[in-house]
Amino acid sequence: MRFNMPAEEFEGRRAKVAPVAAILGECHGHPVWRAGVDPVDELVSCVLSQSTNDSNRDRAFDALKARWPDWRGVVEAPTDEVIATIRVAGLANQKGPRIQALLRDIHEQQGAFNIDFLADLPLDEATAWLTSLRGVGPKTAAIVLCFAFGRPSLPVDTHVHRVGKRLGLIPERMSAERAHPLMAALVPAEQHYSFHIQLILHGRELCHARRPDCANCPLSAICDWYSDQQAEASST
Ligand code: SF4
Repeated sequence: MRFNMPAEEFEGRRAKVAPVAAILGECHGHPVWRAGVDPVDELVSCVLSQSTNDSNRDRAFDALKARWPDWRGVVEAPTDEVIATIRVAGLANQKGPRIQALLRDIHEQQGAFNIDFLADLPLDEATAWLTSLRGVGPKTAAIVLCFAFGRPSLPVDTHVHRVGKRLGLIPERMSAERAHPLMAALVPAEQHYSFHIQLILHGRELCHARRPDCANCPLSAICDWYSDQQAEASST
C-alpha cells in the first residue's frame, strides 16, 4: 500500500506515465531545464505568484528589485512600503509581510540571503527545510527545487493537478498538496521538469478547466475523463 492505494493501482497509474509523456512530447516538445535562476529570487517570485498571473507576478518582482536591489533592503523597509511596491501582484497586504518574514527566516538560519546549500542536501531534507519556512508549502518547495536547482521535484500546480486527475494519474479526491509525493514517485526523476512543463502547456492549450478541447486532444484515447464522458453520453 503506497499513497493510500493498493500496489496494483499505483502500478497502473505509473504504467500510464510513459504513453502520456510520449504524446505530450510530440504535442509540446521536450523542455530542458537550464540553470540561471537564483533560488531566493525564485522563492520570492513564488510568493508573489499566488492568485495572480505571470505578468503581474513579474511586474511586482521587478518593482521590488528596482526599489531594493538587495534583500536586506526589503527586510529593513517599512512593511507598508513593501506592500505598496508589490501591489500589482494582488493580496499585497498578505504577500508583503510574508516575503519579509521569509527573508528574515532565511537570514537568521543561514547568515545570508542565500539557500544554495539546498543543492547538496538530500531531496527530502531540502523539501523539509523549505517547508519549515513560514508560508512555504509543498508546491513552492517543489518549484524552487525544480526550477532553481534542477532537482527531481515535480510541482503540482492547478494545471498539473487538473490534467493529472483527468488522465488518471492522480486520484480524483487527492489534493494538489498530497499529489506532490505521488507524482514524484510516478514520473521518472529525469522527466520531472519536462513533464511538469508539458502538463502545464496541455492545461493551458487544450485541457482547459471548464471546456477541455477533447476533440482535438491527442491524449483522448488514454484519458480516463474522456472515456467516462463517452460512456456517460452513450448511456443516455
Ligand atoms: S482528452 Fe480532454 S480531458 Fe483528457 S487530457 Fe485531453 S483535453 Fe483533457
